[in-house]
Amino acid sequence: MDVFGLMASYDYGEVHFERDAATGLKAIIAIHDTRLGPALGGCRFLPYARDEDALVDALRLARGMTYKAALADLPHGGGKSVLIRPQNQHFDRAALFMAFGRFVDNLGGHYITAEDSGTGLEDMEIIRSVTKHVTGVDVSHGGSGDPSPFTALGVRRGIEACVKIRLGRASLEGIHVAVQGVGHVGYQLCKELAAEGAKISVADVDPLKAERATREFGATVVALEHIFETECDVLAPCALGSALNDHTIPRIRATIVAGAANNQLAEPRHGDDINARGILYAPDYAINAGGLVNVAAEVVGYDAEKSRERTMKIYDTIHEIAERSAKTLTPTYRVADLMVEEKLARVTRGSQPHL
Ligand code: NAD
Repeated sequence: MDVFGLMASYDYGEVHFERDAATGLKAIIAIHDTRLGPALGGCRFLPYARDEDALVDALRLARGMTYKAALADLPHGGGKSVLIRPQNQHFDRAALFMAFGRFVDNLGGHYITAEDSGTGLEDMEIIRSVTKHVTGVDVSHGGSGDPSPFTALGVRRGIEACVKIRLGRASLEGIHVAVQGVGHVGYQLCKELAAEGAKISVADVDPLKAERATREFGATVVALEHIFETECDVLAPCALGSALNDHTIPRIRATIVAGAANNQLAEPRHGDDINARGILYAPDYAINAGGLVNVAAEVVGYDAEKSRERTMKIYDTIHEIAERSAKTLTPTYRVADLMVEEKLARVTRGSQPHL
């Protein structure tokens, strides 16, 4: 494996590896950028066919965290850790996460961990027993709880900004939003939208979740394959990644795409395609940062009201991106990247975080 070649291709200076034979821990901590503050990002606990796949996952995800934190004006850089889940071998989960906690602690706060795929509150509590550089802990220990309501609040604010710019409307009253996926965030988003008087359509592979949205928010259920073709104002992808691709983009009837899902563009060129079709796309990592804003608040002492206020500002971020996009004739996904890159360029390595 060409480790340094991979690091170079993802623009990295720092990656840490740890192997602990006693517990079976094999972990990678990728720290992409710390110019704005210590790297913050979740830890994954998943099986990987090859070590290289785990490294690429960590590199890709940590870089994404740099962009998300910077655009949300958080005093954090981007980091992510990957723990390779042992296969066909007994392991003591608590001992393994304790070993990981010591690994995090040895970095002295340069990286702060959190939950991600395959990890949960109990794992964070174990990590917490050996290091203070962890978020997503129990509420009784200053934790911030479920991030989904904050993510949904930020998405609602982002939708409001898009509606103001594209439709000239100051409220969501009567605005038709088609939500793909009504899981943790999608459900909370429907609650936000219903409270603002929006008209809601939903699609979910789980019919019970779609029915709940009908029961509680009066949403119309749409067949899975028809959600992209729904005649509506806003399409909100809140399910899996790559929702915006060659197959779906030509079918979109909405004039705005603004949702919670990560990595919505199958490839960057799909951001150009959406732009060319005259659709206003709210870049995913800009609009879905509310959960990260909330978890980051734990680092300084959790205050739900402050997290809420900060999340409300996602309106301004999306508004600025849309305005700059219109002024410079640049697709929104590129504008968001440029805003981050400009911000990082203003902060020299090793200087005080710019708050
Ligand atoms: P979730 O698993 O709770 O919800 C996803 C929902 O999408 C499920 O109800 C699932 O049945 C449905 N679904 C899956 N495939 C579908 C399809 N093809 N069509 C329609 N529905 C489909 O996950 P979540 O926590 O709500 O996260 C949703 C998205 O938002 C993910 O991409 C996640 O990475 C992103 N995100 C979540 C948060 C958060 O706070 N939870 C924060 C930032 C980003």
